[in-house]
Order: sequence, then C-alpha cells, then structure tokens
Amino acid sequence: MHISASLWSSDNPKAEKAQKFGALNAIMYLAPAEVAGAGNLCPNASEGCKAACLAMYSGQAAMVRNSDDPAALGNVRTARIAKSRAFMRNRVAFMRAAALQLALQYRRARKAGLELIARPNGGTDIAFEAVSVDVDAKLAARLSRIIGKDIAARRYPSLFELFPFVRFNDYTKTPKRMRRFLAGGMPSNYHLTFSRAEDNASAVHDVIAAGGNVAVVFDRLPDTWGGARVIDGDTHDLRCTDPRGVVVGLTPKGRKAKRDKSGFIIRTL
Ligand code: SF4
Repeated sequence: MHISASLWSSDNPKAEKAQKFGALNAIMYLAPAEVAGAGNLCPNASEGCKAACLAMYSGQAAMVRNSDDPAALGNVRTARIAKSRAFMRNRVAFMRAAALQLALQYRRARKAGLELIARPNGGTDIAFEAVSVDVDAKLAARLSRIIGKDIAARRYPSLFELFPFVRFNDYTKTPKRMRRFLAGGMPSNYHLTFSRAEDNASAVHDVIAAGGNVAVVFDRLPDTWGGARVIDGDTHDLRCTDPRGVVVGLTPKGRKAKRDKSGFIIRTL
C-alpha cells in the first residue's frame, strides 16, 4: 500500500517558532491513544491528558464544530486517524514513507540554512526506537539522492539510526522509555522529556532526582517546581536544546485543557 499522506508538518505555529532558533521543526501528528480504534498509541496516557490532548483539542485539530466532542471529525482529525491506522496496519510502508518524507524535510532545512529537528510523537507516545525501517534498494537510491549522502539498503533498527545526522526529540509518559534515555540506552540523537500527568507523581520524582527534564502544564509558570528551575517551554518546542535538570513549563492550550479539573493542569492561582 502506498502512503500518500503528508506525515511531517513543519508549517505549524510550533515549527514557525523554531525558525527563530535556527531550526526546522518537523513534527509527526497522529491521532492519540485509542482514538483511531486501531490499538493504543499512548500506553501511559492519563484520563486528564487524554481529555485535554493537544493532538485532538488544540490548534488545527480543534477547527471543527463542537470540538470538545472527540467524535466530531474535521479534516485534520480525520487525517490523523487515517495516519494512526496506517501506522498500526501497514507499518513497513508507513515507515518507508516517513523516512522518504523526512529526507525531503532535511533537504528543505539545508536549503534554508536551518538544522532539522524532528519530533515523531506529535500526538502519540510510540516507542519509535523499536520501530525498524526497511530500506530497499529503490528507497536507498532515492534517499541518497535527496539527502546527498550514501544511504545503504538494509533494515535500520529505527529512524534514528537511518538519520544519525538529524536530532530527534519527544515527550513521553512512559517511565520505561524515560529510564532508558536517562541511562544512556537510547540512540544518541534521540532526546526525551518526561511528561507529568495527574497520575505519575512517583515517576516524575524519579526523573527529577535522576537529573532528567519533566514537562509540566501550569495555569501560570512558577519559578521553581519540585525543586527544579522552571523554564518557559512555550518559547519553542526544541526540547533537545533545553538544559538538563529543568522543569519545562507549558501553559494549557485549547478550551478543554483550560477547563481541566483532573489535576493534569497544576493550578497556581
Ligand atoms: S500521552 Fe500525550 S499525546 Fe497521548 S493522549 Fe496524553 S497528552 Fe495526548
């Protein structure tokens, strides 16, 4: 099956902010959690984060009548659902398309004099470090031509090994993935920030104690939280450029997040 959808977005407001920091931020948005009815793409999502998820209830995804209703489908939600289904049901073709399109983003960044920084989990928490990419001879030739480097035809353990010259970053709510990152067990070009929710206090404590970064949604950013300095995470989304050992403070986006009562948003006011 051919995947024709555009998988990486680099024209959204987050990506536009990145350009001021010399980066082209390519983000892959799929439908989160179980929204696509094809398995769970956010295995550690909380009830609060699912109810406020940016990938469903903010920005372009919320441009639909009665946007609080997850069953209300506009073009963006429908496209994200189709992409999640393609990832779950046709993974080899999906990953080949993701690789080809990322190569095009890389070429675009180079032409613009920017560094490509990619975020595969724009609305999911997929262990992409364990998702291989089968590069056949035809794809290898296309990638080599687009990127301007020799890419061998073989099975790569993940996108990160296929693109060792690109920095990748993601948020995760999966403690196992974060522990692996903090222990140096992830590919060296893949950075993770742990994402706080109303039900993962002990994991958040462990990440901060280990010197990792934690993203926290506040109604208003404090100076410190949990003993760590809070930085403004809304300035850009280039989490791999953050200093170590900080709390990345984010503010609620979308109506549903602003009304959150689950404890997902920390109220300081
Ligand atoms: S884990 Fe992240 S992407 Fe998944 S539902 Fe929660 S906020 Fe959305």
